[in-house]
Amino acid sequence: MDRFDAIVVGAGPAGIFAALELAKRARLRVAVVERGQDLPARLAVRRGETEAPPDHNPLLEGFGGAGAFCDGKLTITSQVGGHLAELLGDDQAESLLAEADHIWLDCGAPQKLYSPAEQLFADLRRRATLCGLKLVSVPLRHIGTDRTAAVLEAMRQELAGCVELILQNAAVRILVDDSRAAGVELADGTRLESSAVIVAPGRGGAAWLRAEAARLDLQIEPGPVDLGVRVEVPAAVVAELTDSLYEFKLLYWARSFDNLVRTFCVCPGGEVVTVRHGDMLTVNGHSYAEPTAENTNFAVLVSSRFTEPFDDPISYGQHIAHLANLLGDGVLVQRLGDLRRGRRSTPSRLSHSIVEPTLKSATPGDLSYALPYRHLSALLEMIDAIDRLAPGVGADHTLLYGVEVKLYSSRLKLSESLETELPGLYACGDGAGLTRGLMQASASGLLAGRSVATRLQA
Ligand SMILES: Cc1cc2nc3c(=O)[nH]c(=O)nc-3n(C[C@H](O)[C@H](O)[C@H](O)COP(=O)(O)OP(=O)(O)OC[C@H]3O[C@@H](n4cnc5c(N)ncnc54)[C@H](O)[C@@H]3O)c2cc1C
Repeated sequence: MDRFDAIVVGAGPAGIFAALELAKRARLRVAVVERGQDLPARLAVRRGETEAPPDHNPLLEGFGGAGAFCDGKLTITSQVGGHLAELLGDDQAESLLAEADHIWLDCGAPQKLYSPAEQLFADLRRRATLCGLKLVSVPLRHIGTDRTAAVLEAMRQELAGCVELILQNAAVRILVDDSRAAGVELADGTRLESSAVIVAPGRGGAAWLRAEAARLDLQIEPGPVDLGVRVEVPAAVVAELTDSLYEFKLLYWARSFDNLVRTFCVCPGGEVVTVRHGDMLTVNGHSYAEPTAENTNFAVLVSSRFTEPFDDPISYGQHIAHLANLLGDGVLVQRLGDLRRGRRSTPSRLSHSIVEPTLKSATPGDLSYALPYRHLSALLEMIDAIDRLAPGVGADHTLLYGVEVKLYSSRLKLSESLETELPGLYACGDGAGLTRGLMQASASGLLAGRSVATRLQA
């Protein structure tokens, strides 16, 4: 048994920021356990120079986590991307985010902050309100899919020599002794001992964390499931919004079923991409530091919660995504005009569109066979509302790719120091159901690392 002062499980943004905070205390012996590969090895896989080990998801696992190859939109507000403000209050959450932002900047994130002048934002918000939409202010930095890994590499360099990185080895069990955390057992049978364990396994490790929470009798609450489509339009159609805001965060409450519908992950001049989670293929978007396409894409997602007897939103979302995969042999793409006329899109109908699809592998088809009526009607209502704000979004040639699904982890009960009900076990990031984006994940890691360091020094 190897003994550490603290163990961090998961080297995504949450785990990295926890480790960076712990690494400031030179005398602490810290282990970071990551089931995926190191960042240089992931980059080699991405460049096609090597193959990922079997059962690895090189896009989401390894040093940098799901953040390594994402488009790196840093949303510097407690209003989106997680629940830190609910747990800590606005002031503490904002101050942690500001600290996390400094670390991202020190490691190479761009100085440019998209934050429109007050008068401009007030005008846009007033116009959005008249269209039945709520525009949320989100100060944002954009790193770009092509540069995010370099920023994470700078963080890796900071950690080198300060923590012990244990790679390609998953934590399989949280060890408990005398009703408190005592370490972790790894997939290869190694047991690491510590009275302070921070779990940051991301969404990919959420099922593992949920199973461990059930085994340890920790309270968990199912999260929502956000399901919808990725919308692709000519960049000019939404340029007024993206030029000043980059990411326009619009909220809408559907008249039909009163569900919350929202825009998410706006990619100006970017590309629609597929994301594989096991045997499920969904859509997402990427935008590079410089525009690479003449289109802009963004998600429109309908949020739902289930209570009882059904409380498994993750299976629900996966079921719908699998249905779309079944119909499209992958992901589907449909012209908005075809969807409205109750007919599938075909290659020939797509060719009558002025929007050239950036995702070539999507199958022209009919999303109405995959999405429930509740979701479809809410999506169409919101697209109509956005069309009133940015004329052209609701045009016949607008492309809809499906499905896009956000499966949020079940939420663990946590104290203000991010300690679970098991003393010595801390949790942070997306896997704990606490966050859903890079900034809040990293801020939560910072807090978990600081809580452990403070306790160890007491
Ligand atoms: C395509 C894509 C684009 C995105 N774009 C953005 C964006 O622009 N802006 C934004 O804010 N957010 C974005 N996100 C979301 C963002 O990447 C996540 O919110 C963030 O990475 C969460 O950080 P995390 O550390 O909690 O989890 P993760 O980044 O998922 O990291 C968790 C790590 O833990 C490891 N792990 C899991 N289980 C175990 C275990 N049992 N033992 C050891 N290791 C384990 C995993 O391999 C992984 O490396 C995007 C996500 C995707 C997939």
